[in-house]
Amino acid sequence: MQVVIIGAGPAGLLLAHRLLARSPHYQITIYDQRSDPRLADSLANSSDRAFVISLTERGQAHLKAIDGLWPAVRQRGMVIRQTGVYSPKNKQWKTFQRSSDPDKFSLLINRNHLCIALLETLEQCSEKHPDRSVKIVFNATCRDINLRQRQLTLIDAEQQILRQSYDLLVGADGVHSGVRNAFLKQPGFDFQQSYFNAVWKVLHVPRPAEFSSDTSYFFRQTLSLPGQPPNQFSGAAIPELDDRLCVLMFWQQASDCAIGNPPGITSPQDFQKQMAEQWLPGLTIDDAMAQALFDQRPSSIVETRCSRYHDTPGQAVLIGDAAHGMSSALAQGCQAAFADVIALDCLLQSEADHLPTVLSQYSAQQVKEGHAITDLNAHLRPQAKGLSLLFNIAMGLQSKLSRWFPGWVSPPLFALLAQPEISYAEIAHRFRFWIHLIRWSNQQHQSRVESRLEARAQSQC
Ligand SMILES: Cc1cc2nc3c(=O)[nH]c(=O)nc-3n(C[C@H](O)[C@H](O)[C@H](O)COP(=O)(O)OP(=O)(O)OC[C@H]3O[C@@H](n4cnc5c(N)ncnc54)[C@H](O)[C@@H]3O)c2cc1C
Repeated sequence: MQVVIIGAGPAGLLLAHRLLARSPHYQITIYDQRSDPRLADSLANSSDRAFVISLTERGQAHLKAIDGLWPAVRQRGMVIRQTGVYSPKNKQWKTFQRSSDPDKFSLLINRNHLCIALLETLEQCSEKHPDRSVKIVFNATCRDINLRQRQLTLIDAEQQILRQSYDLLVGADGVHSGVRNAFLKQPGFDFQQSYFNAVWKVLHVPRPAEFSSDTSYFFRQTLSLPGQPPNQFSGAAIPELDDRLCVLMFWQQASDCAIGNPPGITSPQDFQKQMAEQWLPGLTIDDAMAQALFDQRPSSIVETRCSRYHDTPGQAVLIGDAAHGMSSALAQGCQAAFADVIALDCLLQSEADHLPTVLSQYSAQQVKEGHAITDLNAHLRPQAKGLSLLFNIAMGLQSKLSRWFPGWVSPPLFALLAQPEISYAEIAHRFRFWIHLIRWSNQQHQSRVESRLEARAQSQC
């Protein structure tokens, strides 16, 4: 079977692994518009890809199922057992252990390094099985898809046109998926996309000695400027290989702004001051880094929702961010992508590659999961201070009670999200009360902020 995968991201590469490991029956070709992440140049230039992904036991379980893959990934990531929060009163970082079980930890890995580990092990696997075929073509952009004739048109680095036919087309091409766009021409395919009112920037810096290599450090601040609504600013500093820290920061801003910085940051020096005094005390960034951060274009966050993940003839399918884009609030995008891969591979095996059956069953199963995790992501972040406090207290209490009365009290949200055997649909069901309450409260909060701003604008007139 000729399987063509568009996108050599975590989802596309893991699917190639699963198919290659299982059967010599698949001829796999992967195309990616970007260059090979193993080339040093492409790592240095790819600021958009250079963020860190957290993989809990949920994501780890999917990697462990493939021979040799987990050690390769683990070697390139950092084992994180604690979270750190700064206490301004005591002027020091307070750390909390994630779990007392030494086997429970988060693996924090740069997306590029995850792809490199997947690529290297994929090549080793194909060398071990000369009867199995996988071809990876970088710098090849998919431009046109004819779902009826099962034909693709791609453009390579030399601007040459490539044509490719397929038996199964897999759209693993991320949140702005072209494969999904081709589905839009088909009747009955419903797709919604919304931009979050938030953006993010990333910075990589040498890790100072006071920042431990097994701790993720979190910061949060409400930024208020006169005449503007309060802006929720938050971020994390996460250890990386080679004694570095990846600093991610998020704030509220219309996503169509090409340039921008958090409220109150009007020069690179403001970044240096805020970083050292407020957000990450103990971390200093030099002038060049501050300037680069100040000039960096903020990235937007897109949420997508599809009514199904396959085309009508049943020969093309979406996995990962192409199927369900979401914010990184609950750190589940990649882990949900891995779950799609496992579901698709298991169905191909159980249904003996009968694609119309496989793909419709895949949609029936995974659309529910995709919608559940996007709901959890979107509606478990209370904007009102009071509700946010209440939610955190409730989760703390639930964490204690679930340890004392296991079987009687459900573990808190983050503990459930880490457990691979509990589906996202089940978690959304258990948290349905909070989802409804927070959704309602956020709507009220938003309209209160808007009417306050309107009143202030009118009084100034
Ligand atoms: C700041 C941030 C933090 C995150 N943190 C976490 C986390 O902690 N945990 C977690 O699980 N997830 C996290 N995520 C989400 C995670 O990164 C994504 O869910 C994951 O990368 C999805 O993998 P994918 O393979 O589906 O898509 P992608 O990683 O987007 O890969 C898609 C690939 O398709 C290629 N492509 C696109 N269009 C074409 C085309 N036309 N032709 C050829 N190739 C094409 C792209 O070049 C790309 O390589 C985070 C995301 C962000 C932005």
